[in-house]
Order: sequence, then structure tokens, then C-alpha cells
Amino acid sequence: MSSSGGFAKDLASAARLRERAEALLLGGLGQATGENPVLVAESVLHELQVHQIELEMQNEELRSSQLALEASRSRYFDLYDLAPVGYCSLGEAGMIEQINLALASLLGMPRAHLLRHRLSAHICPDDQDIFYRHRLLLQRSGEPQSFELRLREPGGGLRWVQMQANAALGEGGEALMLLAVMDIEDRKRSEQANALAAKVFTHAREGIMITSPDGTILTVNEAFSRITGYEAREVIGRNPRLLSSGRQSASIYRAMFAELRDFGHAQLDVWNRRKSGELFESMQTIIAVPNTVGHTVNYVSLFSDVTVQRAQEAKLRHLAHFDALTHLPNRLLMADRLQQAMSQAQRSGLKLAVVYLDLDGFKAINDHHGHEIGDQMLIAVADHMKKSLREGDTLGRLGGDEFVAVLVDLADESSSQPMLNRLLAAAAQPLRVAGCNLQVSGSLGVTFYPQGVEIDADQLLRQADQAMYQAKLAGKNRYHVFDAEQDRHARGHHESLQRIRQALHKEEFLLYFQPKVDMVAGRVLGAEALIRWQHPERGLLAPATFLPVIEDHPLAIELGEWVIDTALRHQEAWLQQGLVLPVSVNIGARQLLQADFVARLRQLLAKHPAADPAGLELEVLETSALNDMVHVVQLMNECKALGVGFALDDFGTGYSSLTYLKRLPVVQLKIDQSFVRDMLDNPVDIAILKSVIGMAQAFGCTVIAEGVETAEHGVLLIALGCTLAQGFGIARPMPAEQLPAWVQQWRPDAKWAESSGD
Ligand code: C2E
Ligand code: MG
Ligand code: MG
Repeated sequence: MSSSGGFAKDLASAARLRERAEALLLGGLGQATGENPVLVAESVLHELQVHQIELEMQNEELRSSQLALEASRSRYFDLYDLAPVGYCSLGEAGMIEQINLALASLLGMPRAHLLRHRLSAHICPDDQDIFYRHRLLLQRSGEPQSFELRLREPGGGLRWVQMQANAALGEGGEALMLLAVMDIEDRKRSEQANALAAKVFTHAREGIMITSPDGTILTVNEAFSRITGYEAREVIGRNPRLLSSGRQSASIYRAMFAELRDFGHAQLDVWNRRKSGELFESMQTIIAVPNTVGHTVNYVSLFSDVTVQRAQEAKLRHLAHFDALTHLPNRLLMADRLQQAMSQAQRSGLKLAVVYLDLDGFKAINDHHGHEIGDQMLIAVADHMKKSLREGDTLGRLGGDEFVAVLVDLADESSSQPMLNRLLAAAAQPLRVAGCNLQVSGSLGVTFYPQGVEIDADQLLRQADQAMYQAKLAGKNRYHVFDAEQDRHARGHHESLQRIRQALHKEEFLLYFQPKVDMVAGRVLGAEALIRWQHPERGLLAPATFLPVIEDHPLAIELGEWVIDTALRHQEAWLQQGLVLPVSVNIGARQLLQADFVARLRQLLAKHPAADPAGLELEVLETSALNDMVHVVQLMNECKALGVGFALDDFGTGYSSLTYLKRLPVVQLKIDQSFVRDMLDNPVDIAILKSVIGMAQAFGCTVIAEGVETAEHGVLLIALGCTLAQGFGIARPMPAEQLPAWVQQWRPDAKWAESSGD
């Protein structure tokens, strides 16, 4: 204001100067004062000049203060527009009179589109009421109003704002509403998040407890109270130890704190105690909440009551591991226990026994008395057997009437004997179930661990199973100890099954032929084909070393067909050399009883048209012919129709009943070599030979003796009426190529002609 004050003073002094100058001009001044008018005029002029300079200076000041004013005005508009707060003034009708850029951008529109438009158009319809109410209040009271509502964004979204409304008068004196609008979207969001967190805290199904770093309980939620039975006010300020069940060792808590320290959170399952004293199993997660510099300011503990759940789980575990009927460990758990016992045995250096137990005669009880009684019986037997074992031993049920026992800590194999006998006795204990007197017995297979070789639990069970089978074969109600040696042998066989198949495809098999002769007529009747295996490593192998392995296997049929085929091929080859010679081929039971045996035979014969079917004889073991008499009789008749005849091999070993024998259309009986070999010293054998020879005559078939090892055998046989023979005393089996030459040179023993002459 100094400049304007100075200005007034200037005006006053200028007026004074004018007065003085006028007086001077009128000449009255000097007279009145007596001064020299020239001097006065000069001084006035001087004053005037000075004043002139001052005025100019003052003008200068005025201009610069005007500039400053303009600058501050524009600064004010910048502030107004760019303030972080939205401003607007609304006219009486709610029209926007003025609006800053901040608010325009909040509304998402250019300022020009907003001026002279209603602000309410941009307010969320649901919140318009709030706006009108406060506008009215402002108009009535003139009191500033503050309220929150949502603005509509052009994109369709809503945005929370806080409005501050003030009343003002416009230039023309009209009422204005000045609005400051603040964006509070972020604050609202975090408020909502907090509200949600609070809701979660309050209504969570998990109990939540927040403590200070020293463990003092600060707050708990409703679930905490529900689970523990403590109200919030009862626990706040106390230590969570009040929940401790006393069941848990200190170490579990130490581990928890270590985990918290290292990872910031920890998990533990503990037994806690409710206010009522009841225990509950709690699954707990504890979180250390750090502040910005990493110091723990709170612990949050979340826990749920899993007592029921855990009980359910335990029940399921039991179901998965225990047999529902007898409650004994099932196969799964037994495998586990066996595994443990094996590790234990390795550590202790003691032995363990695996006992596979199958009840004898249980099926009959089930069939006869029904499953219900069968089940009761199983429960009772299982119970007796379990009680017969020692503390550390385990009895499990594998299913049906099969059990397994693991006997541990045996100093040696024989120390298992008392237990095995007790198990047998327990299994065979007479029982009274539902009014019935019942009794079964047990067949036990036993194997021991460790063995000389590495072996796993599965293999042990298999060994015990095999041994149990032996116990059954040996007459049941007994135990049989697995014989590793025997097993290795059997496994050797198993391996050679593959090897035999391979040998067949690699053509390692060949046929030897052994002549059959009439000792008296001095005639070669035919030759028996006997299979050999020319093994690349083991040399020439006899049929006993490989035929039993494939006896029950389809490979036996394949090999059998190979034999017929090959025998016929040799027969054709001999024919070419002018030798007509019948061949005998041994037929295994499996091949013989094969459904399409006759059809296959017909095909094989057709393959060798030069060979005469009547020149083929099939040797069938007496034992295999008896298995399915009806079928075999029919089959033999069909072969007979083809011209193919049969011989009953190893006759005398199969206890054939005469009635059956009578029905078999065989042409020849081959007396088993066992009778022939020993007949020289054994009168019983001679009696048998006599009766066999008599029987053959009665049936109208020929009889031939096998195993004629010496000429003496021949002599006696001829004396008994059997002139046909086969054996080392005549010829050993030989390769097919050698046979024609042998036939050429063979002459019967001189003694035979003599004995026949008698
Ligand atoms: P098998 O049919 O009773 O054959 C006679 C067996 O007695 C032959 O043994 C033969 O070499 C032997 N042998 C012959 N004469 C004498 C003798 O004087 N003394 C003694 N100690 N043994 C004599 P091989 O060749 O070892 O055959 C054994 C058995 O194998 C045969 O008994 C037969 O049942 C079976 N077999 C042989 N080849 C075949 C075949 O191709 N298929 C079938 N399914 N079985 C065959
Ligand atoms: Mg034979
Ligand atoms: Mg024989």
C-alpha cells in the first residue's frame, strides 16, 4: 500500500505547488511574505522538477505491480486447474459454471463439454439422493456440507469421491455452490478390503488368535471361542499355553519356533485342551507378521479342530490296512511289516520265518454250512492262530482262507518249530460255531530270511506259498519248508522252456531210431523214433531232460507235430533207398487229447504222400490213455480208420483195468522195460510178464518187450512166448541215416533160434 499512500501525498503536494505557483504569478506572494519573488519562483520550479521525477518513478512502480498482479492471477488459475482436487461452481439450477481440469478429468470429459451442463448427470443414480439432500441443506443453512458418493465414469465404471460443498455469491449476486471433489476410490477399496478381512476374521471357520511377539493374546475370533470354549475376554492378555493339553512334548514347540524363525511360518498338529477339559486335535498354522524393518510384531495362529476328521482318517487307514472280517493286517500291511522285519533281521543278524497258511477243508465248510458260518469260523480260527504266536510276530490274512505269519528273532531255522506246531494246533482246534461242531486244519509253507542270495519280500511270500502247496500235496495238516535248491532246479526248467522253443526254431532237435525186431523170425519190424536235442553247449540231450518241462505247455503239441512230420520224412527218405520200414512215434498226453488231433494227423500224413499211414504207429503211455477213456477210444478208432495203429507204451505201469483195456483198439502192448530188465533175477517180474503176455493174446494184440539189454533176456522172453523185442541188446537208438545199413547187416542172435526151437 506504500505506493498508493505515496501517491496521495504526491497529489497533495502537487496541489500545494500549484497554489504557490499561482500566487507567485499573481504577485501577491512576495508582498505577503516579503520574499524575493525570483528566488521563490526558482525554488518552486526546482520543486516542480523534483516532483516531476518522483511522479515518473511512481508510474514505474505502478506498472510493475500491475504485472505482478497479472502473474499471480495466472498462477492462481494454474493452481485452480491443476490442483489435485476437483473444483467447480454450480449455478442455482445445478449447471456447471466453472470447473477445473482436475474435475473434468475425473469425469473423463473435456471441460468444454461440461460447462453449462448439469453435474448430477455424472452422479451414480443410486447416489443422486445424497447429492440433492446435501445441496438442499447447504441452500437452507449455508453450512458447508461434506459427503461421499459415486461418480459415473464414461466407461461405465463408478468412482468414489468425497464432496465438500460451500455456498458463495456470484458476480451478479446470484447464489452459487462451490464444490471441492476428492477422489477416494483407493481409500474406499482398502476400507472394503479391511472390512472383508474383519469379516473373515470374525466369521472364519478356523480359530484365529493374534498375539504380541511375547505371546500375549491380543485378540481371538468367534471360531476360537467356539472351538476352545473360551470367550475372547477370558483369554485376551493371557498366554496360549492355557490351551495346552500336556500331551505334547516340548520338542514339538521348539521345532515350531525354529520353523517360525527360519521361514516366518510354521505348521503343527497338536492335541489341545478345551475349557471343558476335553482334548481336541488341532491343525495349526502360525504366521509371524513382520513390520517394515522385518521385526515380528505379531503372531497369527490359525487352527481348526480336526479331531473328527483325523478319527475318520484313522478309520480309513484301518480299512486300508486291516482285514474287515478278522481285523488282522491285510496283504498291504503284511508286505510292509515283512519289509520292516527283514530290515530288522539284517540288523540283528537273527532269522525270520515267513509262513504261508492255507486252511484245509474250509471250502467244504463254506459250501456245506454257508458263508455266515464260514466267516464265523474264520474269525475264530484267526483268533486262535494269533494267540498261538509270540508278541513280536505278526499274523495277517491275505484273503479267503489264506493267512501269512511272520515269525521274527529266530536264532536258527529249527527254533521256528514250536511256533509252527502251535500254529498247526491252533488251526486244527475244534470249534463250535452256531451250534455246529467244526474243525479244519492248516497246511503251512515256511521259508526263512536271510538266504544265501538277495531276495525281496514278494519272493519270500512266493516261496512260502510254494512250500504250502507242497504241504498240501504231502497230505495237509503239516508244514513244509521251502527248498531253495529244488526251486533253483525248477526255475532252471522254466528258463529252458524259452530255450526249448528257440531250439525248435533253430532246428536243434533230431530223431534217433531204435529198431523193433522179431527175435525168432529174424525180421526188423520197424523203428521207434526217439527225440534228441543236439544242444550247442551241453551236447546230445535225452528226452527226459527237456520233455517234462514242456509237458503241460502248448509247446509240447508243436514239438509233437514236428516229431511226426520228421519221422515221416525219414520214412520217405528210406523208401527212396528201397527200405520199407514202419515207424513208431511217441505221443504225449497233451497232444493226444488236443481237440483237432486227428485232423492235424491227417494233414501231416497228406504232407508225405509216399509214406503209408499203415506204416505209422503211435505209442501212447498207458497212463495217458486212461485219463479220458471215452475220448481216447473214439480217437483211436478215428486214427484206425486212417490206417494208423496204436501201441500202449510202458505197459504194466498204469494199473489198467481189464474192462477198460478191452475197449481200447490197440494193436500192440509194449511191456515196460522195468519188468524186462530185472526178470532174469526176479521171479515176480516173470509172473507179471507171463500175465501181460497172456493178456495181450486174450485181447488179440501183439506184445513187445522193451529194454532187452542182452541176448539172455531175449532167450527168456521167447520162452515166455514174447518174440518181439526192442532194446540195447539188439540196437541202441541211432541216427536215421544209419538205420538202412543197420537193417541190412542185422542177424538175430543164434541163441534165440535155439530157444524157439524148444
Ligand atoms: P519209451 O517210449 O519207452 O522209449 C524207450 C526208452 O527206453 C528210450 O529212452 C530208449 O532209449 C530206452 N531204451 C531202449 N532200450 C533200452 C534198453 O535196453 N535199456 C535201457 N535202459 N533203456 C532202453 P529215451 O530215448 O531216453 O526216451 C525216453 C522216453 O521219452 C520214451 O520212453 C518216451 O516215453 C519219451 N520220448 C522219447 N521220444 C519222444 C517223442 O518224440 N515224443 C514223446 N512224446 N515222447 C518221447
Ligand atoms: Mg515209446
Ligand atoms: Mg516205453
